[in-house]
Amino acid sequence: MGLNFCSLSSGSSGNCYYLGNEFHGILIDAGISATSIRKFLKDMGISMQTVMGVLITHNHIDHIKGLELLTRKNSIPAFTTHKVWQSILSPQKKISTDCIRKIHLQEKFHLADFDIEAFPVCHDAPETIGFHICAGNKKITIVTDLGHICQTASQYIKVANLLVIESNYDEQMLENGGYPYYLKARIRSDHGHLGNHQTATFLADNINDDLNYICFAHLSKNNNTPELVLQTLERTFSNKGITLKGQPQISILSRNTPTEMINLNE
Ligand SMILES: [Zn+2]
Ligand SMILES: [Zn+2]
Repeated sequence: MGLNFCSLSSGSSGNCYYLGNEFHGILIDAGISATSIRKFLKDMGISMQTVMGVLITHNHIDHIKGLELLTRKNSIPAFTTHKVWQSILSPQKKISTDCIRKIHLQEKFHLADFDIEAFPVCHDAPETIGFHICAGNKKITIVTDLGHICQTASQYIKVANLLVIESNYDEQMLENGGYPYYLKARIRSDHGHLGNHQTATFLADNINDDLNYICFAHLSKNNNTPELVLQTLERTFSNKGITLKGQPQISILSRNTPTEMINLNE
């Protein structure tokens, strides 16, 4: 059974990720318009009818922009915790009530061909979660918005075969850039976002043979470049005596366009 992953969009202007096999798929976040989601999937030959649900990480608009229409027009069930639902459901958000599914932190649930577990991460929303998804013998962990990697999140990150992890900003670019002080402080805080050096250091300390793919996600438009992510990774790894020889495979997820499909069985 082929298991495929791709990012439709990744960053502060919208996050949406797809994981699926030839029968079923799921989305992680719906931070771009439902029209774009449908179009991008169609371009890849994926029918909306095969999408069995959308997992929601938190209430920031770059993660839920298309959720209302996905539930109302496509009747796609949406899964997140009670606390995240509370933060999403306001009089303005007309989520179809038939599509609301409540899940519990660190309690496995089954959806289509996937065993899924949500876990808490540190970020400045009422609650933010990461997802650990098992399909056959493959394990996928997705953490897109977090200020630091706590003990709980690290357990799920360390066992992934495919890891989608934030690498939001280059520490120097953020420091020297034009953002006001309060915003720089918010981004850098334990409840903000992960910087390139933070992510690279965690990976260098925890890399293992099970990790086949790393996808760097949620890059800042103003405070990062794909080149800086890679340079920081290479420098951090070489400082620790680690050389990357094509394993794990590395992708930098682009902000506005879908990335190439990764086949986890290859
Ligand atoms: Zn975000
Ligand atoms: Zn966020």
